[in-house]
Amino acid sequence: MIRVGIPRALLYYQYLPMWKTFFEELGAEVIVSPTTTQTILAAGSSRVVADTCLPAKIFMGHVLSLTDKCDFIFIPAIRSLKSKSYNCSKFLGLPDMTRAVIPESPTILDIDIDINKGKRRLYQAIYKLGRRFTWNPFKVKRAAMAAWQAHLSYRELMSSQGLTPPQAIEKITGTPATELKAHPDSTGPVQATIGLIGHAYLLYDEHINYQLAHRLQQASNKVLTPEMLGRQELEVAVTRTVGTAYWTYEEDVVGAGSHYLQNGADGVIGIMAFGCGPDSLMMDMIHRQANRLKTTPFMCLTLEEHTSEAGVTTRLEAFLDMIYRRKRRREEVCV
Ligand code: SF4
Repeated sequence: MIRVGIPRALLYYQYLPMWKTFFEELGAEVIVSPTTTQTILAAGSSRVVADTCLPAKIFMGHVLSLTDKCDFIFIPAIRSLKSKSYNCSKFLGLPDMTRAVIPESPTILDIDIDINKGKRRLYQAIYKLGRRFTWNPFKVKRAAMAAWQAHLSYRELMSSQGLTPPQAIEKITGTPATELKAHPDSTGPVQATIGLIGHAYLLYDEHINYQLAHRLQQASNKVLTPEMLGRQELEVAVTRTVGTAYWTYEEDVVGAGSHYLQNGADGVIGIMAFGCGPDSLMMDMIHRQANRLKTTPFMCLTLEEHTSEAGVTTRLEAFLDMIYRRKRRREEVCV
């Protein structure tokens, strides 16, 4: 059986169920790289120039961890998923960048996804990818339809049950959400509701964010993430804030940020990668909105290779303290 490797990084969190279904429907076995470790990060960092963003370094580390475990590695080049909105340049050149820095990588299965070129080009690209496994176009079409259905069910599962991508993936595929030791479940009443916004690969990679979501939950806070909102809610929030989205994943940052600043969160934490152009623009927009509204505190955490755990936890504790005090003051005023 052909083994297809999928790195547990970058767009893994958004699309694993879809990609897995597609390849399995075509008769392949899907191998996912392990959760991020310091060894994976160091290996990835050693292959790219220093100012490459942290998620891209981690991605390369995951590719390296798969090199002797599969026949192909799936690395799509996602340019655009919506008319006139564009992805960060790292995603556009990801297959070529990987070939250049990891020449020993198994053959890379790439697919160029650019909705601006029309649906016909997209279907042709899917058939081209499927031809690696079968010459039967109907089989490829069936696999693509099953994959799309799996994606819709995945999104629905997260928004209807309030699950994070790792939790939903665990539910669907049985792949454990994390190999890190989970913090004990909190039993007390909810202290505050915190909206976490940012790209999925920063919110759910627990190695690079020092288990931020777990820490919040352990301190009896309820955590809300972008995937817990429906596509429509996110799009409405983006339109209200910036009009038309320019970046492909703007909903996860600007949409979720704007929504949680105005609905249901006591505080919002944005997570971005150091040196990330799109994020610096989007987080700034949310920062300005928070300053303008003055209703919900906002904090932005910037992650990079040398971010220390102590730095993250200190800022987190200070932010939470401020939120708890604010809540207590409000409750006293209401009494
Ligand atoms: S959007 Fe930012 S963090 Fe994500 S790959 Fe591009 S530069 Fe890196």
